[in-house]
This record gives sequence, structure tokens and C-alpha cells, in this order.
Amino acid sequence: MKLIRHGEIGREEPGVILANGKRVDASGEFADYDEGFFAAGGMEALSEWVEDGCVGGREISPLVRIGAPIDRPSKIVCVGKNYLDHAKEFGEGIPTEPVLFMKASSCWSGPFDEVMRPPGAEKMDYEVELAVVIGQTMRHVSEDDAMSYVAGYSVFCDYSERAYQKEMEGQWMKGKSYDRFGPMGPWMVPASQVPDPQALRLWTKVNGELRQNGYTGDMMFPVKMVLSYISRFMTLLPGDIVATGTPSGVAMGMNSPKYLQPGDYVELGIEGLGEMGQRIVAC
Ligand code: ZN
Repeated sequence: MKLIRHGEIGREEPGVILANGKRVDASGEFADYDEGFFAAGGMEALSEWVEDGCVGGREISPLVRIGAPIDRPSKIVCVGKNYLDHAKEFGEGIPTEPVLFMKASSCWSGPFDEVMRPPGAEKMDYEVELAVVIGQTMRHVSEDDAMSYVAGYSVFCDYSERAYQKEMEGQWMKGKSYDRFGPMGPWMVPASQVPDPQALRLWTKVNGELRQNGYTGDMMFPVKMVLSYISRFMTLLPGDIVATGTPSGVAMGMNSPKYLQPGDYVELGIEGLGEMGQRIVAC
């Protein structure tokens, strides 16, 4: 079972993909995959409903658009420079503890929706990341306990505009938060189906050219550490997203950076979690 949301932008409804590949609507049983769903033990209820044969659920055509697999979260917390090779290509030193920043949750977007290049932007970049979906409220949680708070995993792209991020005053959020700069999908895989989140390959292709080809085992600060660490500084709510950083191979790290242009097609995938793709468009 994987979680999907289907329908038009802003009007998505919950559903599942079964082991046999069938897509089934779950909106008769569940309002949405959101904070309330996870807080009320929705994952267990959903698993039981699927095990019982999805009673009352109609099949969804594979042609129907799918959106981000969970509703817009209360926050998207990101880890900067969490892979050594990327920290080197980024410059400005190697972190000795996790670098944290946020993306505005209004950048939330579907896995195959077009991504708009902001007006005047010339340094738009991609970052494939393992996204962790929080299942229960986390506040001062130890590393040993942290993984039991995870609902599932998905593929995330932390789209970035480097000039906005690095060449202007203040924090990174200006370069990280434009509309559609946070696509996630194509589905959420429950944590129970991902035995080791530190043993996954992750990659990005642009117009078919392999740009990023990394391994989650290369994170300097692994998922359990990152989650525990964040929970010291803020409460993570059910349905929140933690994006765990990107491996090397971003455009910014090239001698002659190939920043994203309107018309480019970006494909991103993680082993066992699926693949998504976005066309870059002028806005
Ligand atoms: Zn990132």
C-alpha cells in the first residue's frame, strides 16, 4: 500500500495504490492525509481498510492527475549541506551540526506539475531529497526513539534560486519558497515498507542527463539524528515534512553551471520510493 492524492490542483482526494498496482479512492473513509489524519492514527486505520479489501472504494483511472501524497504541511523543515560532496560544491565550510532552514509551505506542489521559474530568475536549481513525513507530534525526542515517529517517506525536490538564496541579504528562504518550489511524490511509502532509509540511491536527470547520483547512506547527519535534533528547537507536527538534504551534482556546483531554463524537464527518483518529473516553465 502506498498513499496517493488524486484530482485537480487544490481539490485532491485521498487514495491508495495497492500491491497489484490498482489505484483506489479512499475519500469515502478518510477526509484527507493531513495533520488530523496522522494524529488520529490514520495510518493504522488505512492499513486495516486496505487489508479488508477497500470496502466502498472505487478504482481510479491511471490517467487522473495525482497531487502531493499528503496535504500541505504546517511546515517544511530542510537540512542544508547534509552530504559532504554537496557541502564542498556549495562552499562556505563543512557543517559540524545540522544546518536548518525552512521553505514556505505555500511552495507545496504535485509530483508532475509544471514548476514556474520566478520572474527575473537566472540561477534556478534542483535538489533531490529524501522526504520524511512525520506521523506523531515530536518534541524533545531522543535519537533512539525518533524513527518510531515517522509515518513514511517520499521523493522531494528542493527547488532553489541561487541568486535569491546566496546573493541577497538574510536567510535562504527567499531562494527556496517560490510557488511550486516544493513538489513531493509520486506517493508516500509507509515507514514499515522502508527497512533502512540510509540505504537508498537517489538521482536527478535533466533532459535525460544524469546530474545527481547519490546514496542516503552518505548523509553526514542521518535521519534519526536530524529528527531528534529538530525536535529540540521546534515541535514537529503530524504531517510535517523534513527534507534531509541533497547529494552533489546540483547546477551551482558546476564550473559552468547549467541552471534550469524554461522547457527543461527534471526527473527525480529514490530507490523503492518512485520517480517524479516536472517541466520548467516561464511565469
Ligand atoms: Zn535542499
